[in-house]
Amino acid sequence: MITKVYENPTIYKIDVPLPNNPLKNLNSYVIQDGGESLIVDTGFNRPECKVALLEGLQELKVNWEKTNMFLTHLHSDHSGLAPAVMHENPGKIYMSKKDHDYLGWILNGNRWDTFDGIYQKEGFTEEQVAWLKDENPARGFEPDYYFDAEIVDDGDRIQVGSYGFQCVYTPGHTPGHMCLYLPEKKLMLSGDHILFDITPNITSWVAVDDSLGNYLDSLVKIRNYDMETVLPAHRKNEMDVYVRIDEIIHHHLIRLEETIDAVGDFPNAHATKIGSCLKWSMRGKTWDEFPLSQRWFAVGETMSHLDYLIQRDLMEKTEDEFYGYKLTNTAEACKEKLNQHWRGYEK
Ligand SMILES: [Zn+2]
Repeated sequence: MITKVYENPTIYKIDVPLPNNPLKNLNSYVIQDGGESLIVDTGFNRPECKVALLEGLQELKVNWEKTNMFLTHLHSDHSGLAPAVMHENPGKIYMSKKDHDYLGWILNGNRWDTFDGIYQKEGFTEEQVAWLKDENPARGFEPDYYFDAEIVDDGDRIQVGSYGFQCVYTPGHTPGHMCLYLPEKKLMLSGDHILFDITPNITSWVAVDDSLGNYLDSLVKIRNYDMETVLPAHRKNEMDVYVRIDEIIHHHLIRLEETIDAVGDFPNAHATKIGSCLKWSMRGKTWDEFPLSQRWFAVGETMSHLDYLIQRDLMEKTEDEFYGYKLTNTAEACKEKLNQHWRGYEK
C-alpha cells in the first residue's frame, strides 16, 4: 500500500508489513523529483516484505536508471532487501561507514556467537541461548550477501532531482545510524532515531563503549535542527518532535535511576537479574512470563544503561569472585552524580 505523505518534493510511503514482529510495519519512503527516486529503507529479507516493497515501487513507476537507495541503519528490517532490490540496477546504496562495516562483520563473521557468549555471561542459560538461535526476531531476514555501499558522512548531500538532502549522523540506536534532512523544507526522515508511539531500542554493541550516551548526544544534536515535518521509520507520528525528544531523554533518566537502585539492592548481580528489577511495559505480565525474545531485548537495553553508568564512574564490573555489577558509591550519591551529568541534556 502506498500513500503520498509529502508534496514538493513528492514523498510516498510504502507500508511494508513485518509479520510476527512487535514493530508491526516498516515505512519505506520513496522521494521523487525530476524523474529521480531515492528509496529510504526496505523491510526484512522475507517474501511478505519483498512483495509489498516491489509492488509499491512498481506502482510508483520508479525509473531504475535514476534510482538510488539510502539506508538509515544496518538493522535487517531496514537493510534486508537492499541487495535484492538494487543488484540489477545501476543506482547506489548510501550508508554510513560505521554501519556498513558492522553489517560486514554480521554477514561475514560470527557475530551471533559473540553475542551468545555475552548473554550467557549476563545470566541466560545455555538452553535459552540455543532456543533463541531460531526464535529471536532480531535474527534472520538479513540481506542475502554483503553489498557495496556509497559511504556518506555527517553533512554530506544526496541529490534527488533539484533537492539536496543532508545526511545527519545520529549514532546510538545502531553504531552508525543516520537521518536525512531537507533544510529548506524543515523536513527530517528520522529512521529509528526518533519514533513516536514506541521507544527506540538502545542496546549494547560489541566494540561500542557507550551506546546510550551516544544516543542521548544524538538526540541533543537533532533537537538543534529546525524541524516541521518528521517522518519516522515505524508506525505514526502524531506529536511534536521536540516534546517527543524530551520524553525519550526523560525515559532513559528514569531507567538509569532504576538501574542504580537495582544494582544497589543486588550488588554483584548480572544484567539479567538487574533487568528483571526494571519497569518494562509488559502488558501486565511478570518478567518470567515475558517472552524470552523480549527478555533478550530488555537485557540488551539494561546492558546499555549499565555501560552508561560505568563510563561515568557510577558503576563498575566485578569480575573476581562473582561476575556482575556494583555501585562505586551509595545509591543516593550515584543518583545525585547522575543528575549532574543529566543537566547536559537539558535545553
Ligand atoms: Zn532499527
